[in-house]
Amino acid sequence: MAKKVVTDLDLKDKVVLERADFNVPMKDGQITNDNRIQAALPTIQYILEQGGKLVLFSHLGKVKTEEDKEGKSLRPVAERLSELLGKDVKFIPETRGKELEDAIAALKSGEVLMFENTRFEDIDGKKESKNDPELGKYWASLGDVFVNDAFGTAHRSHASNVGVAANLESAAGFLMEKEIKFIGEAVDNPKRPFVAILGGAKVSDKIGVIENLLEKADKVLIGGGMAYTFYAAKGISIGKSLLEEDKVDLAKSLLEKAGDKLVLPVDNVTAKEFSNDVPTEVHENGVPEDQMGLDIGPKTIEQFKKELDGAKTVVWNGPMGVFEMSNFAKGTIGVCKALAELDDAITIIGGGDSAAAAQQLGYADKFTHISTGGGASLEYLEGKELPGLAAISNK
Ligand code: ADP
Ligand code: MG
Repeated sequence: MAKKVVTDLDLKDKVVLERADFNVPMKDGQITNDNRIQAALPTIQYILEQGGKLVLFSHLGKVKTEEDKEGKSLRPVAERLSELLGKDVKFIPETRGKELEDAIAALKSGEVLMFENTRFEDIDGKKESKNDPELGKYWASLGDVFVNDAFGTAHRSHASNVGVAANLESAAGFLMEKEIKFIGEAVDNPKRPFVAILGGAKVSDKIGVIENLLEKADKVLIGGGMAYTFYAAKGISIGKSLLEEDKVDLAKSLLEKAGDKLVLPVDNVTAKEFSNDVPTEVHENGVPEDQMGLDIGPKTIEQFKKELDGAKTVVWNGPMGVFEMSNFAKGTIGVCKALAELDDAITIIGGGDSAAAAQQLGYADKFTHISTGGGASLEYLEGKELPGLAAISNK
């Protein structure tokens, strides 16, 4: 990687500032899924083993008003991290000031503290989210070096990632490095054949991804709700399925450009209502008037399997159907299975719901890499520069 990584830094006895991605799902003050904390452990452990004095920070949710602070404290994250590390993680309920500065001054090598949600700085003028230069400079003044491991925020230019990096020697953490390695190599230098599988709800969310991957991949398989806008562009009936009328022209031009590189479903699982409690049907040649398409059908699963046969790189974004309902999960399960069975292929999932689907359906350990950053992985798949990554010091 052209950027410095944490192993390039001298950490011994240094105050190491680390931006992690602790934006975990919370309910009633409890963490409901600690994947992101787990994913942050390797870098944290490395810094501590090297004798760094570690200062951790992250955002959690959105904070616009004083009331929004309720339930958005990072304290439960510090407690969970402490359990996982088997080590005290001191929590400072401030984002600046004397208490924080004194606690940092008192840190010994191999010790760690965490300070409060960086977005608490958004209440008074969005200082964090608008990358207020003074805030980034202040945070940078608290340490000797900066490690950015927050891939999930890399598509944002905030004070806690870009702002701090502008003022200190900085490096990527192991999670950031891993995300960049897998997604970056898949898109820029893939082992071929390279197949992309795209689904999810809307074409409009994924235009950039479709365009970029149509250029890079050897095949692009389309499923999910977005398939019906492509059907409409081809004049195939879609019944009551999801349609973005203002994207039909775009779908037409993508189809023309792509030729047989772009593969659409040949059959669909349909129902009269968006519900798991009504009978389902399978239809080829489009969707009847009174039905909506809610999953790819069994023939399409077979067709996609054939297209995937022999693939060496697969990037998948977007579920094939409404996987949250068991009646419409078979397409997404089918794709999970097909990918699990591939020999010697690099398989990557980008996108929040797709990652959740693979996890929920029990296939998470079958993939080479599941990105921890929904929005960031999408922007990376679009071929965009990620400001959080760009701001890290070059080697
Ligand atoms: P990701 O987060 O992986 O990028 P998206 O957010 O684009 O994925 O899409 C996920 C959503 O798409 C899921 O909630 C799923 O229910 C929905 N979806 C998939 N297929 C359909 C369909 N045929 N009709 C309506 N919604 C669909
Ligand atoms: Mg999503």
